[in-house]
Amino acid sequence: MASNNGKLLIIGFGPGAFEHITERARQAIEESEVIIGYNTYVDLIRGLLTDQEIVRTGMTEEVSRAQEAIRQAEMGKKVAVISSGDSGVYGMAGLVYEVLIEKNWNPATGVEVEVIPGISAINSCASLLGAPVMHDACTISLSDHLTPWEQIAKRVEAAAAADFIIALYNPRSGRRTRQIVETQRILLAHRSPDTPVGLVKSAYRDREQVIVTTLGAMLEHDIGMLTTVIIGNSTTFFYEGLIITPRGYKRKYTLDTVEQALRPHERLRTEAEPWSLNAREEDWESEEEESATPETKTEPAHHPVSLALEALELLTAKGIVAGGRMTAAAQSPSPARTTLSILELGVAPGIANKKFSAQQMMQIAELVGESGEIEYTPHHQIIIRVETEDPSSIVSRLKAENLLVFPIGDVAQVKACDFCNLEKDEAIPIAEQLNLAIGGLKTPKELKVGINGCGMACYGAVLEDIGIVFRRGAYDLFLGGKTIGRNAHAAQPVAEGISAADIVPVMERIFKEYTEKGHPNERFHKFFKRVGRVAGFAYQDHHAPVEVDAACGD
Ligand code: SAH
Repeated sequence: MASNNGKLLIIGFGPGAFEHITERARQAIEESEVIIGYNTYVDLIRGLLTDQEIVRTGMTEEVSRAQEAIRQAEMGKKVAVISSGDSGVYGMAGLVYEVLIEKNWNPATGVEVEVIPGISAINSCASLLGAPVMHDACTISLSDHLTPWEQIAKRVEAAAAADFIIALYNPRSGRRTRQIVETQRILLAHRSPDTPVGLVKSAYRDREQVIVTTLGAMLEHDIGMLTTVIIGNSTTFFYEGLIITPRGYKRKYTLDTVEQALRPHERLRTEAEPWSLNAREEDWESEEEESATPETKTEPAHHPVSLALEALELLTAKGIVAGGRMTAAAQSPSPARTTLSILELGVAPGIANKKFSAQQMMQIAELVGESGEIEYTPHHQIIIRVETEDPSSIVSRLKAENLLVFPIGDVAQVKACDFCNLEKDEAIPIAEQLNLAIGGLKTPKELKVGINGCGMACYGAVLEDIGIVFRRGAYDLFLGGKTIGRNAHAAQPVAEGISAADIVPVMERIFKEYTEKGHPNERFHKFFKRVGRVAGFAYQDHHAPVEVDAACGD
């Protein structure tokens, strides 16, 4: 196979409109002597043709098209092989190379090949919908003519589970009608039915059609051979008929202020990106252990924390001070929301009181029923999960049994010892006041505040994020403990003898600084280390081991 100046120009001409064909693609079409492509494609670029010889072929003759193109190029002709969109995305590029390789083609001595990129449907269709792609995305072709269905289904499943934005190519044809139904079923196991979906047919062509719908409702609309289906991820939302996926900057930037809290060079520091790989590597193992605790496990893709917090705010606004966390089957920001949701909340007999009565246990069991869940946690509370349309009635029934009800997740939790079975009750009112002041309020990451009634600190207050130990009529304060992980450490003693009148206001100041300046997901000990000073208490890099008085009742 000798080179004789023949050339294969493998061209993607974009969605269809002339203005979306690249300059190089136009030139390549112009300089070619033969055009080979599917009939409809040749018609789409007809306006660019001059005297080229046209080899038209039907839809399924892709292999013969590639063979013919190579044959003509080997005869010394410049041959354009045209694909819509990009020729490297379910187009002709791979096939042409496959046929060449089959013939032992050598790039140095064989016919020259140039692949000319074009705008693929994922991009052209996205542009008509707003900005649905924006983040990690994948394309999946639902055509099982050349790919086994099991493999396609496996990819849909994996993409759904990994929260990719998905562009479905070849979603449906006259004969292939079940694939899109099956795909929707797989996706619904991972994503809310309210997930935004865009259906774009014939983008930038004559009969262009753009439909904005949801994953649950998408099959009610026309989907055909010329449609690309774009399915949002768990953060994608609707805005005025558009579909938008946030870029993710919200974590680092405040979108509605001109002045940013972090200066540009600060934004790139590891501590400003606690979600990054570098930040995670710092204490990789302990992070893994942390995420294994029941209250820190990652929300599944279809239960974003935002919804839980939104629902929590709703409960709180209704006057349920210690509310609950809601996770719903439907949670995207679309107006249509299903009402049956899972209420998730922590329940305890008291801040200091650790004893449930039989009556309380029976009430919990009755509310949770056969289908709900009761989970025992290491945090002085049990968590109940129950499907309900009326969370406030559940909360009030629990309260009627004198149970305390707490939101769970990234909120402050006040944990107290049992004050020697409530016999040493001096500090109990402070524990309760503190719970009223900050308990259940939203924090960047779960925040456990331990209060122990004597220097024994036998309920481990000094090991919590924040520890308060009552001793000799006043309070000692410990900040920044790391309870779990292989690099667990106690909190630093930062003050002794804080008066009963001062301790709650001091805690409120600490809480305020942490909630205002902490990064999302930043645990209190990391925050303390990063900012170096909280409410006037300085972080010490190498602090002495904590000494706690051993005498009980001191
Ligand atoms: N190479 C093409 C894809 C060819 S597969 C590209 O990169 O875009 C054919 C599928 O592409 C169609 O079933 C449809 O899902 C999608 N597609 C191609 N052009 C399109 C257009 N103008 N509007 C909507 N979808 C399109």
